[in-house]
Amino acid sequence: MKFDIITIFPAIFDAYLSESILKRAIQKGIFEAKVHNLRDFTKDRHKTVDDSPYGGGPGMVMKAAPFFDAVRAIKSDGADTLTIMLSPQGKRFDQNTALRLSKEQRRLLFLCGRYEAIDERVRDALVDEEISIGDYVLTGGELPCLVIIDGIVRLLPGALGDEGSAREESFSWGLLDYPHFTRPPEFEGLKVPEVLLSGNHREISRWRRKEALRRTLHRRPDLLERSPLSDEDRRLLAKIKEEER
Ligand code: SAM
Repeated sequence: MKFDIITIFPAIFDAYLSESILKRAIQKGIFEAKVHNLRDFTKDRHKTVDDSPYGGGPGMVMKAAPFFDAVRAIKSDGADTLTIMLSPQGKRFDQNTALRLSKEQRRLLFLCGRYEAIDERVRDALVDEEISIGDYVLTGGELPCLVIIDGIVRLLPGALGDEGSAREESFSWGLLDYPHFTRPPEFEGLKVPEVLLSGNHREISRWRRKEALRRTLHRRPDLLERSPLSDEDRRLLAKIKEEER
């Protein structure tokens, strides 16, 4: 998979992409990320990327011209491209979006904003999708871009050590993840649930499913309404409610 990123802070990407799973996925050729400095597409001596807003008001606006030039230069190789602008006004990023984007055949080109906004003509002429990572405002699009890339890459075949991890975690199966424990079996009087030490895989699976349902019921009941529940899930949910009455 190929990502291109336009930013005025390329070093932010160098740091994150050179650690852990993302670093190994790059080394294995699972994805590649090219980071482009927007300032390289300016024409003045000061490499200006922003200017004051028409109509007045606070903050600076990122100029259209460097974005137009950068996007044209990147697309000049003729590769099919999906251009994504990071914006708090975009569609909220979630696991389904990560999954959809992980299957994209097109290169993903991310535009990271800074300051008050990017000149609206960039959105109108160059952008296919606007994505937000949540209902809050950050200082720039770099962290949201990394959040999205991270969410996509771990779904790409071969990126995670254990393929099961991405399948069985929160949201992937419509529920929150079940609780996890590791050695020792007792720590400061706190015990690991007996069933996990039993070696009975059928019982362990059932316990995990039940605890995932319990967590989802308590923390994110909205997910249960959208989740495809089996008859067994419904029985387990009824049991949980009964136990907790
Ligand atoms: N004035 C803008 C508004 O109210 O919608 C916010 C601009 S923000 C300070 C600067 C840049 O950070 C945005 O252009 C965007 O690229 C990025 N950004 C901030 N919050 C974000 C979020 N929740 N999701 C995605 N990108 C975000």
